Formats: sequence, C-alpha cells, structure tokens
Amino acid sequence: ATPISTMIGVGKAAEHGVLVRNGDALQTASKLSTLVVDKTGTLTEGRPRVTEAKVLQDEEQAVLGLVSALERGSEHPIAAALMAHAEAHHAEPGEIRDFDTVTGGGVKATSADGRALLLGNARLLEEAGVDLASGREVAAGLEEKARTVVYLAVDGRLTALFGISDPLRHDTIAAVKRLQADGLRVVMLTGDNEHTAAAIAREVGIDDFHAGLLPEDKHAEIERLQGEGEVVGMVGDGINDAPALARADVGFAIGQGTDVAIESAGITLVRGSLHGVAAAIEISRATLTNIK
Ligand code: ADP
Ligand code: MG
Repeated sequence: ATPISTMIGVGKAAEHGVLVRNGDALQTASKLSTLVVDKTGTLTEGRPRVTEAKVLQDEEQAVLGLVSALERGSEHPIAAALMAHAEAHHAEPGEIRDFDTVTGGGVKATSADGRALLLGNARLLEEAGVDLASGREVAAGLEEKARTVVYLAVDGRLTALFGISDPLRHDTIAAVKRLQADGLRVVMLTGDNEHTAAAIAREVGIDDFHAGLLPEDKHAEIERLQGEGEVVGMVGDGINDAPALARADVGFAIGQGTDVAIESAGITLVRGSLHGVAAAIEISRATLTNIK
C-alpha cells in the first residue's frame, strides 16, 4: 500500500473511534486470521460486583472486615468489588500485616491476632493446601452462572466464598459475530477459572478458549498460534495483557484500559468496543489491499 492509502485508512479508522499509532499495524490488520481476546475488561465491562456471599465460619461482619482490609492493597477490579460489598454491609476494615499480592491468584496477609489470611481463586487456595470441599456445591452453582468465585481461608480453613459478576459489554455478542463473519477465528484467553470461562464463552459464541492463564501464558499462546502460521491480533485492557499485545501481529488496546496496555498496542479502541477491531480490519481490507 502507498503511504497515501495508509493515511486514508488511518483517517477512516479514526471516524470509527479507532486510533492507529503506526500505519503498519493497520496494513497488517487485513491479513489477520486469528483474533485473541482477553475476557475481563475486554469482552466484559471490567466493573465487577459481588452478587453472592456465603460465610461458612465465623461472624459475617468480622469476615467482611478482613476481606476489605486484604483488598485495600490490591488494584485488581475484583478488589474494588469486594471492598464495596464490605462497605455496603457496614463492615469496618480489620487490622492486617504482612500483606502481599499473588499475581493471577489473589492476596494474602496476617490478621492482627496472628491468623493467616488467604483470599483468591481456587488454584491459589488449593496450592496452599486448603480443602475446598465444604464450598464445592456453592461454587459449582456460582460458576454455572458465569460468576468468578473468590475464596477466603483463615488459618488454612475455608471461611467464605463470594460470587463476582462482571456483565458482558452491551455489544460484545454482536461484535464477535461480525468478526467471525469477517472470517476470523476468535479465541478467548483468561486468568479466570475453566467453568466461568466456559459459561462466558458459550454466552458470547466463542468455541475456542483457554482458562487459568498467567500473563506469560497469554504471550506463549500467541507465539504458538503464530508458529502454526496464523497471523494473530490480540485485544486486551490490562497490565497483564501488555506482553501479549506487544507480541501479537496487531495489538488492540481497550481505550479505557491501563496505560501499559495502550502503550504496548499499535491500535487503540477509543470506544472500548470490539466493533472497532472489525472496523479496522474491514477498512484495512478495503483501502489497503486493493490500492497498490
Ligand atoms: P483476569 O483479570 O483475566 O481474571 P488475573 O490474572 O488478573 O486475570 O487474575 C486471575 C484470577 O485470580 C482472577 O480471576 C481472580 O479469581 C484471582 N484474583 C486476582 N487478584 C485477586 C484479588 N485481588 N482478589 C481476589 N481474587 C483475585
Ligand atoms: Mg482484562
């Protein structure tokens, strides 16, 4: 494509709220065969809230106070949801020390009276040797409803479970259909658990997904697809997505996402909609492949 046709394409893309940082990214968009999408904050709104809480041990206010104190130190969107839930139930944040975050897993600390606190996903608690059997039935029901389940253990004992709901963006289903109609294979990658991921993928109409991924796994999955000869686009919003966005043939960052994600991507979706990805691909095909 000539620089002129690229400029026309960049201008057209801007009309659709698609900001192209380098013309190469827009040229490559016409060649994409696979589109990898992050779940949280990309397919979903990324503004989760607590919809169910089940306290198995101890007094509810005290438990919520510990949860609130634990999440004060985390920047994960789930942390904001749990703190809001505790506040709505008028729970005072408890005293904690030795706070630490576990990437892709959750948070941990010690309570003022010396109890070990662990809050996060099933993998984090199981790796610490916590028996989740007493919460299994509740958790299965929540996962069936596409909830992310967060577990609290106190001194190694399962104490509470929370169901977190993060609604789909209003246009996710339509945009994915459009991308598939454009001939793209759409693959969802997420750090969330298998069951929740399956429920969301089913709702969106995506057959291909990988769950329980750490940030480096997202990056590795893109490399693997490229090794199979796929030209891979990646859409993401989080700090966690930055390596994958940089590795993809074209990275698309959600405009409301983190700065790190935006800096790692060649294209920014100002309106935060996957329709922007389809628009970029369609414009790229129309303006850049036909004009030589
Ligand atoms: P994603 O945002 O795609 O779900 P992450 O790697 O950020 O991926 O997190 C993976 C999982 O770890 C989350 O789905 C959640 O279950 C758990 N998790 C991470 N941080 C926290 C936290 N601060 N509080 C509770 N759970 C957390
Ligand atoms: Mg995300």
